Amino acid sequence: MHKSRGVAMRVYVSVDMEGVAGVVSWDQVTPGKSDYMHARGWMIEEANAAIAGAFDGGARHVLVNDSHNGMRNLLPHELDPRATLVSGGLKDYGMMAGLDDTFAAALFIGYHARGGGPGVLAHTWSSRVIGVRLNGQEVGEWGLNAMIAGAFGVPVVMVTGDDCLAKEVREGLPGPVETVVVKRALTKYAAENLPRAAALEAIREGAARALRKVREIPPFRPQPPIALEVDLNATQLADSAAMMPKAERVGPLTVRYTAEDGLEAFRAFLTFMALAAYAD
Ligand SMILES: [Zn+2]
Repeated sequence: MHKSRGVAMRVYVSVDMEGVAGVVSWDQVTPGKSDYMHARGWMIEEANAAIAGAFDGGARHVLVNDSHNGMRNLLPHELDPRATLVSGGLKDYGMMAGLDDTFAAALFIGYHARGGGPGVLAHTWSSRVIGVRLNGQEVGEWGLNAMIAGAFGVPVVMVTGDDCLAKEVREGLPGPVETVVVKRALTKYAAENLPRAAALEAIREGAARALRKVREIPPFRPQPPIALEVDLNATQLADSAAMMPKAERVGPLTVRYTAEDGLEAFRAFLTFMALAAYAD
């Protein structure tokens, strides 16, 4: 039986924070800062809306991965008790930890637009990164993470965040991916937000709708060999990243790695990030 039509459809939910309705500043997404506890509550509400929508849409198991900062934002006792929670920061594939080929679909909640483009708190992994390309296609975290899912044969069927993210995903991921816009970016640090209740309803309904069309949405699989190119915001960061075996320096700020598959490309990206941080 096809895994998306089985009696035990498994759904994977990766939850970030910058794209949550109401969030417009780094302080709100930084543990320990004054507004963080409010934004954390909104993040949990949006995760719960996605879980509820997934069950409405036919899921029998939902795994939620806390995908922001230290990855301990989602409080287990406040999460829908039907879902399991991957919590904590040191984990293989990071924002996609716990995913494997038994899942029918992945949902990205609270995501944000790519670094170097418009959008609320737009970035890709780090402020040091000003561009990431896969075979020449500009992507954000949504693309890197969709590539991991694609390597396991899992399609990304819904993404939630601001209007800039929605535009990037509609242009960048295959198939009729559900994009739920919970805020309209005015600048990097300002947005017109949906009322909280409306955002939660849109996420719940979007998740159910997305899962009903799961078979229409193919996994995101850049053609191998995959050329991963990363633009950094200072030459010493590229100097350092280029020391990775098999890396190529293709510009003053740009390093390239050619990978056999999506999992290798993502590991190369993480290694670039570690080396770049070393030279900061
Ligand atoms: Zn984040």
